[in-house]
Amino acid sequence: MVADIGIALRADADGVADAADLANAAERAGLSLVVLLPAVDAPDADVWTMASWVAARTATISIGIDPHPPTVDGLAGMPFRRVVARAVESLEALVPGRLITDPDRWTVTDHLDAAAARSADASERAIVVPVTSIDEIDALAATARTTGITGGPSADRPLAARLRRAAGIDYDGVPGSLRASAIEPGDPAFPTVSSTYMRGGRPGLVLRPRTVAEVGDALAFAARHPHLPFGLRSAGHGISGRSTNRDGLILDMGGWNQIEMLDAERGLVRVGPGATWKQVSRALEPYGRAIGSGDYGGVGVGGLATAGGVGFLSRSQGLTLDMITAVELVLPDGTPVRATAEDHPDLFWAMRGAGANFGVATAFEFTAPRLGSVGWAQLAVVVDDLGDALAQYLHVQNDSPRDTVIFALTGRPRPGEPTVLQFYGMVADDDPGTILERLTPFARIGTLVQQQVVLTPYADVLATAPDPGPGGHRSNREVRSRSGLLSANRSDEFDDFARAAADFIAGGATYFFQFRAMGGAIGDTPADATAFAHRDAAFSVAALGANDQRLDRGWAPLRGYMDGTYLSFETDRSPERLVDAFGARGLARLTALKRHYDPGNLLSDNFALGPAVAATHEEELR
Ligand SMILES: Cc1cc2nc3c(=O)[nH]c(=O)nc-3n(C[C@H](O)[C@H](O)[C@H](O)COP(=O)(O)OP(=O)(O)OC[C@H]3O[C@@H](n4cnc5c(N)ncnc54)[C@H](O)[C@@H]3O)c2cc1C
Repeated sequence: MVADIGIALRADADGVADAADLANAAERAGLSLVVLLPAVDAPDADVWTMASWVAARTATISIGIDPHPPTVDGLAGMPFRRVVARAVESLEALVPGRLITDPDRWTVTDHLDAAAARSADASERAIVVPVTSIDEIDALAATARTTGITGGPSADRPLAARLRRAAGIDYDGVPGSLRASAIEPGDPAFPTVSSTYMRGGRPGLVLRPRTVAEVGDALAFAARHPHLPFGLRSAGHGISGRSTNRDGLILDMGGWNQIEMLDAERGLVRVGPGATWKQVSRALEPYGRAIGSGDYGGVGVGGLATAGGVGFLSRSQGLTLDMITAVELVLPDGTPVRATAEDHPDLFWAMRGAGANFGVATAFEFTAPRLGSVGWAQLAVVVDDLGDALAQYLHVQNDSPRDTVIFALTGRPRPGEPTVLQFYGMVADDDPGTILERLTPFARIGTLVQQQVVLTPYADVLATAPDPGPGGHRSNREVRSRSGLLSANRSDEFDDFARAAADFIAGGATYFFQFRAMGGAIGDTPADATAFAHRDAAFSVAALGANDQRLDRGWAPLRGYMDGTYLSFETDRSPERLVDAFGARGLARLTALKRHYDPGNLLSDNFALGPAVAATHEEELR
């Protein structure tokens, strides 16, 4: 029989002055809760002021207030409720995770005895006893201790925090190694880890392992919760990967952000999955080297390097994953593995393109090519005919040398405003004449209304991404994105595609339509050398929208022109997208490996290759 024990204090004139001392004594005595009750003879006495007083004099004890007690029912209408809501908000901000405003969470009783404890145990309510002196508090705490009513394995977190826990998680079973660093919904740090850059969320538990063994502990704990969503997070910029969720588990590798140069001569660098590409580029700059990533420095190594990596240097270097020489990971069963071309070649193949399905990457080794200053360009052109302009862009970019990567971005213009096409990207050359020569054809696609071209280190380009700050990511949205790849082999269809794309954009289903240039060195690696299948792609196309059905309707006419998808920009979870992403042969190989390495489909937050997929694609996979 275990229950939380607390005290109740009335907000009468004398009590207000003493309340803080009594609450403080209750905290020192190890009690769980102080409930503040309105005074009987002074119904307009303000418990909220008293609560601020109590909050300031205590550090851990939970504070219970009924926001709409029966004694002030007559005042419960507007605007009183709004005032109360504001008071709750303010107090919550002052004492995060310590406020309880649901009166069903406690029972007020005059005496603590076995009968009261039994009924509290059954109803899962705390028992609170009205007190007026410190002696009474000490006596109450002594009774609780001697009768064994209080305590239990959960007592390491305040009652208010425990009340915010999600159903179905064995909080008491969190491995000892992970307890101190884990974050729950009631913890003050929870808002810093609940959401990601693109998604709002409220997970039930965020596990933050610090060692390889702890990663194994976290995976074992997750495996005991097969009924819950389980997300894997590095730097929290996932679009396809659901690195936050509601009421599920998160394994957060954000703290694994070490970057170590292993061999400066060869440019061999070891990088943790939680590092951002901004950090990586800055660390490599003194060595005159760079690893191409994506267009945004805030994106993490863990998510990008396991899926692809299409960026400003892809046409000259290849995909980010082409520069990986080793991946260290923890398999779903907890086994640590170092995968290279020689050791565990099957995992080395799978981790480069479908990594999220096979293990938790704990370190990557890359060979970083040499790179001097680059020409970084941001241009905006106004165009009359978007279809024609997009077609010109596709041809100009596709015909450019490998040093040139210009991405294009547009959306439907506001009524009365011109159609603007933005170009941004890089010429990987430090000769101003070459840079201008490469950029001029892009600038001529429309009326140039904005331009900035600078000769700069690559690290400075990625440095423009702001850090999330101590408050963490704060998205409250759900991202919806469609992705497709345009093959260089079908460049004769670029004009038709561009016209269809312009119609789609004009329809208003997308607010963000983007081309990322591919081709060049990406095609130097054979298609079956990594799990990233589409080596002939000339462009990655992505569209973000607010509504899935509208996006799908608008996107459907574009599909016929595209071969495959780049999973990092796809949020459609239909099984067909897996064939699009990996190709039928790649998918067959991946599902066989998945059966071997993750038979329980534990890792499933990102293009899951679980048993359902194998069944759906049985024919193709034969
Ligand atoms: C603003 C923005 C710009 C982008 N630009 C580009 C671009 O130019 N080019 C490009 O290629 N991509 C780009 N992306 C896509 C990006 O590469 C993916 O969203 C990537 O997954 C983000 O990685 P992360 O570690 O930050 O994300 P997280 O949200 O932490 O992780 C995303 C997913 O990756 C998997 N994952 C994370 N960590 C690990 C790990 N340690 N081991 C195994 N799997 C793991 C999980 O499935 C997880 O759900 C962009 C994304 C954003 C938000």
